[in-house]
Amino acid sequence: MAIEFKLPETIEKQIRGVQLVAENVMRPESRRLDDNEHERPVRFVSVMLPQMQEMERGNIAAAKARAAAKKAAVMAEKVNGNGNGHGGIAVAEPPPAADAVEKEKKPSVATLMLVHVIEALSWGDAGQYLCLPAGMLGGAAINAVGTPEQIDRFLTRFTEGEPKWGAMAMTEPQAGSDTGNIQTTATFDAKTNEWVLNGQKIFCTSGKLALEESNGLVVVWATIDKKAGRAGMKPFVVEAGTPGVIIAKVEEKLGIRASDTATIIFDNARIPADNILGDAEVKTGEGNKGFKGAMKTFDTTRPIVAASAIGIGRAAFEFTRDTLAKEGIRMEYGKPRHKLTSVQVDLLEMEAQLKAAWLLTLKATALLDAKEENKLESSMAKVKAGKAVTQITQKAVELLGPLGYSTEFLVEKWMRDGKINDIYEGTGQVNTLVVAREILGYTRNELK
Ligand SMILES: Cc1cc2nc3c(=O)[nH]c(=O)nc-3n(C[C@H](O)[C@H](O)[C@H](O)COP(=O)(O)OP(=O)(O)OC[C@H]3O[C@@H](n4cnc5c(N)ncnc54)[C@H](O)[C@@H]3O)c2cc1C
Repeated sequence: MAIEFKLPETIEKQIRGVQLVAENVMRPESRRLDDNEHERPVRFVSVMLPQMQEMERGNIAAAKARAAAKKAAVMAEKVNGNGNGHGGIAVAEPPPAADAVEKEKKPSVATLMLVHVIEALSWGDAGQYLCLPAGMLGGAAINAVGTPEQIDRFLTRFTEGEPKWGAMAMTEPQAGSDTGNIQTTATFDAKTNEWVLNGQKIFCTSGKLALEESNGLVVVWATIDKKAGRAGMKPFVVEAGTPGVIIAKVEEKLGIRASDTATIIFDNARIPADNILGDAEVKTGEGNKGFKGAMKTFDTTRPIVAASAIGIGRAAFEFTRDTLAKEGIRMEYGKPRHKLTSVQVDLLEMEAQLKAAWLLTLKATALLDAKEENKLESSMAKVKAGKAVTQITQKAVELLGPLGYSTEFLVEKWMRDGKINDIYEGTGQVNTLVVAREILGYTRNELK
């Protein structure tokens, strides 16, 4: 698959707009919001709201087209009676969503646009970026596995009115990297036609914004059959205002302090039967689409985390480069290494790390936009970018000495903010495992 490096004018324009927001809205608030952890970036949210609502309208249209195309493909397969899609009799009648299928064939640049936007916003301030009023991880999960009806019912709220937030709650005290150990239960009550959720979720990004501060939602992973392991795990949409849902704690953190990270307790929280994403049947092996759906969500969101890491890394790199340039230390390209000072070598290496991570992110993104499998590239980008931002920001503090360590500038903050990208949505180690499994052809059980 060819990757086009020249950006369409629409994306260029978008990046210029976002860069202005990053410089003029985010940066001036960065230190204050870092010092006051539980204050929210009100100005940033209001500036970004119209744009996010527009973006969500596009997401919904694309997700519905995708879901309709999938349905059409299933119908075609049924009519043909041939499971492999390569043979059989042609479908007599065009499936109902033929135009949607056609639309799907056009090359998309949606994710390409998104990673550029996220990179630029994270250059501004990664904590504030995480407060974008949108479906975020929760929206991504609904987009990935929801039916057209669910997409409409749950996601339309993000396209209109007051700001709203979406979130995804998977992590529990006993289940982080080992997602198979989720203890939160969902029990079906046939009398009321409801699911009853019980358990505790921790470290849920924007959990409080979604459930307490707006009419948002959280996609909650719970097991409907503990004995079935991963096959029993299903995603459920829990909306703000659901009785029995309690925000028990908001974390105080090392970095991304403008973003809220909540502990949520579900105490007999009842939600409608059709708030489950995917079907309620417990299927193992190839049929276990529910859990695979969750993992698919990560294939789409890991490049976004990588882009965020790169944005923070670029902020630190540019500040270091420009500060040192004022002292007469300039980057020099094309000279042999032994003719450079060690500081110049460090600067070149910082830039090279950034570019390598960005290229991997662009590859993962291009595959996603081309609707091709990107599990390997998505995890690779995440591993590389998580490491790169950690190393680059530490190096920036090291090269700048007291200027890097002082709170007068933002370098020390970027060092704290950057680390999260090596932790959430699969730690660096866990994503390295995914990469290894993909390359070596091992299953989850064979390599853990
Ligand atoms: C600020 C923040 C926001 C978050 N937001 C969300 C959110 O919105 N939703 C959500 O569900 N979760 C969220 N998380 C949770 C995050 O995804 C988990 O912290 C992460 O997956 C790691 O899980 P854990 O904390 O249980 O660590 P553990 O799994 O206990 O890991 C501890 C260490 O062991 C390593 N390790 C674990 N397993 C292996 C292995 N098999 N091989 C090698 N090394 C291994 C890890 O890499 C890590 O270094 C958030 C976390 C933070 C800090």
